[in-house]
Amino acid sequence: MSVFVVVEQSNSGVHRMSWEALAGGQALGRDLSLPVSVVLMGENVSALAESFQSKDVKEILKVETPLLSNYSADGFSSALAQVIETESPKYVIMGHTYMVRDFLPRVSAKLGLPFLADNIAYGVEDGSLVLSKQLFSGKLVADVSPNGDGPCIISFQSAAFQEEDVTDGSGASVRDISISLDENTIRSRPEEPFQEAAGAVDLSSAEVIVSVGRGIGKEENLPMVKDLVQAMGAELASSRPVVDAGWLESYHQVGSSGQTVAPKLYFALGISGAIQHVVGMKGSKNIIAINKDPEAPLFELADYGVVGDLLEIVPKLTETLQG
Ligand SMILES: Cc1cc2nc3c(=O)[nH]c(=O)nc-3n(C[C@H](O)[C@H](O)[C@H](O)COP(=O)(O)OP(=O)(O)OC[C@H]3O[C@@H](n4cnc5c(N)ncnc54)[C@H](O)[C@@H]3O)c2cc1C
Repeated sequence: MSVFVVVEQSNSGVHRMSWEALAGGQALGRDLSLPVSVVLMGENVSALAESFQSKDVKEILKVETPLLSNYSADGFSSALAQVIETESPKYVIMGHTYMVRDFLPRVSAKLGLPFLADNIAYGVEDGSLVLSKQLFSGKLVADVSPNGDGPCIISFQSAAFQEEDVTDGSGASVRDISISLDENTIRSRPEEPFQEAAGAVDLSSAEVIVSVGRGIGKEENLPMVKDLVQAMGAELASSRPVVDAGWLESYHQVGSSGQTVAPKLYFALGISGAIQHVVGMKGSKNIIAINKDPEAPLFELADYGVVGDLLEIVPKLTETLQG
C-alpha cells in the first residue's frame, strides 16, 4: 500500500502543479504512514527521474515507451491503468490540470475506481481520508470520502499545497515498469502543443501578478497599470469585466471562468472580490488590494489593503519603483 504521485511534464520539465501534488502526497503519506512513490510516464524520463532522487520518496517508477513521447488520452490512460493494476497503490494523486481532466476520468472508468477530483485539502478522520472540494464556485465546501479499500484516484486544485513544502530525502530508487501499449489503440495524433494566442502568458506559473478590475474605469487608463506591471517585473491579469469590455484578451482573466493562479504576490487594483474572481486567486501567498471602497470584500482576504483611488496611487507607485 502506498501513495503514488503521477508527474506531468511541462516545457520546462516538471509541471508546477506536480510539485504541489508531491507536497500533498508526502503530507498524506506521513499522516497515514504510507510510503510515497513518483510515477513518470514518457519516452525518455531518466533526466526527469533525477529531479526526484533527492526528494523524500521511496521509489521513482518509470514507464518509458516511444508511444508516450507525446501526450494522448488513450496512451496515458492505458499506461497509468496498467501501472495501477500491477502495483495496487492506495492513492494515486495528480494536480488538477487540463491534461488530468482529460485522461484521469478514463483511468477511473477503465478500472472502475473512484476519481475524487479538484480537491482543495484533505483531512484524516479516524484513520480515514476525507477530501474537501468546492461546490458552486466556492460558495460551499463538501467533505468527500472514498468508498472501499481499493486504489482511489485524487486530483488537487492549484495551490492546494505549496511547492516549497516538498521534503528532501536521500537516494530514492528508480524502477522501470513495463507495460504493453499497442499503437492502434492510440486514436489521436498529436499536433504542436497547445499555445495561447501570441503574447499570452501562463499566469498559473507567474510569481508576481498585477491584476486590474472594473475600478480602472476606462480602457485609456490601462497603460498606467501596464507601466506598473513593467516596473514590478510582473504579469498582467484582470477580472472578467475588463475582458468582457474588450480591454484585455481573455487569457488575462483570473477566476472561475478564467485561470487559477498562485503567485507569491497578487496585487489587485480596483477589484471588488466577487466569489468568481476570488476562487481563481485565493491561493496567492500575499495579496495586496487597492480599492476606494473600504467595504470591498477583497479586503477580507488581502494581507495588505489600501483604501484609495488607484488612478492616483498607481502612477506614484510606478514612479517610486522606477527610482
Ligand atoms: C458564471 C460566472 C462566471 C464568472 N467568472 C468570473 C471570472 O472568471 N473572473 C472574474 O473576475 N469574474 C467572474 N465573474 C464575474 C463576477 O461575478 C464579478 O462580476 C466580477 O469579478 C467583478 O469584477 P470587478 O471586481 O473588476 O468589478 P466590480 O465588482 O464592479 O468592482 C470594481 C471595484 O473597483 C472599485 N473602484 C472603482 N473605482 C476605483 C478607483 N478609482 N480606485 C480604486 N478602486 C476603485 C470599486 O469600489 C469596486 O470594488 C463571473 C460571473 C458569473 C456569473
